[in-house]
Amino acid sequence: MAPQDKLTDEPGRIAALRRYDILDTPADSAFDRITDLVRTLVNVPISAVSLVDTNRQWLKSHPGLAASETPRSVAFCDHAIRQDQPLVITNAQADARFCDNPLVTGDPGIRSYAGVPLRTADGYNVGSLCAIDTRVRDFAPEQLAALRGLAPIVVEQMELRLLAERDALSGALTRRAFVAAVDRQIALYLRHGRPAALLLLDIDHFKAVNDTHGHPAGDRVIEAVADLCHTLSRPSDAFGRLGGEEFGLLLPETGETEAVLAAQRFCDAIAALTIPHDPPLRVTASFGVAAIDPHRVTSGSWIGAADAALYAAKRGGRNRAMLAPRVSLRAA
Ligand code: GH3
Ligand code: MG
Ligand code: MG
Repeated sequence: MAPQDKLTDEPGRIAALRRYDILDTPADSAFDRITDLVRTLVNVPISAVSLVDTNRQWLKSHPGLAASETPRSVAFCDHAIRQDQPLVITNAQADARFCDNPLVTGDPGIRSYAGVPLRTADGYNVGSLCAIDTRVRDFAPEQLAALRGLAPIVVEQMELRLLAERDALSGALTRRAFVAAVDRQIALYLRHGRPAALLLLDIDHFKAVNDTHGHPAGDRVIEAVADLCHTLSRPSDAFGRLGGEEFGLLLPETGETEAVLAAQRFCDAIAALTIPHDPPLRVTASFGVAAIDPHRVTSGSWIGAADAALYAAKRGGRNRAMLAPRVSLRAA
């Protein structure tokens, strides 16, 4: 596809944005340092890393601005991503595209704007790095040069974030990133009482795969099991590699009964999997399931409960899912 066509390939652009898995994630000082630098170098009260989603712009960093998202229809950055060059507005009230924009007529009272597209390595503008002022003004060439120089650093930071959170072999979240997702789910439970369940799985007799077929064959098994889990899970689920051949699945908005059914579905699918190799390989896995409850409000206690159930599944003969018993409130 020609670079120019990528400016109008909206499905491709959204897919590129989704690959970063960054929307609705917590603030990150790496991005805030860049926007703070923009405020200093361009001498503006507001700077933002804006990512343009299907129907909204979501701001990964937004010093000087209270809201972390706006509808896409009012986003200046939605104009910036439609061009290769920086978008510079010196007087929004005098610009037919923006004069009746609520961000101009109301809060924060935008008067001028300079935005440089955040262009991915494969050529999609997923958002913009922007400098926003509440007064009518020009932007000096060196200020625009600073923005132009910082925008690729934002994209690099998005890439690094992804690398740091993903395990290279399986593509699953690293243990650290998975535990962070578990912590976020616990916060949702404590604040809003949202249900969730945790599945831990460990491949059965995996050492024998390595010993019999070699370590590279073991790696193929880990990849195939991880691919299958990715395929079977929902976009809102988190999937992480917790250790060698042990994985975790975090299922938001899922109760105990539904989680056990899900674990059984994953368990059956793994047992039915044939991994291309000479000879073809088959494995099974054991599962421990734990729904969140008032006694499982630290990542350690929740994961620990699922782990105990996983060991019960191993002791019970493997290739099965076991549910962690609820601690009765009276006994506690
Ligand atoms: P069980 O059914 O009780 O889970 O037995 P197991 O053999 O699966 O368990 P054990 O923990 O004894 O063995 C896990 C093995 O996984 C040992 C380790 O060498 C291997 N392993 C860990 N990480 C990797 C990896 O990235 N690639 C490969 N090929 N093997 C790995
Ligand atoms: Mg094992
Ligand atoms: Mg293990």
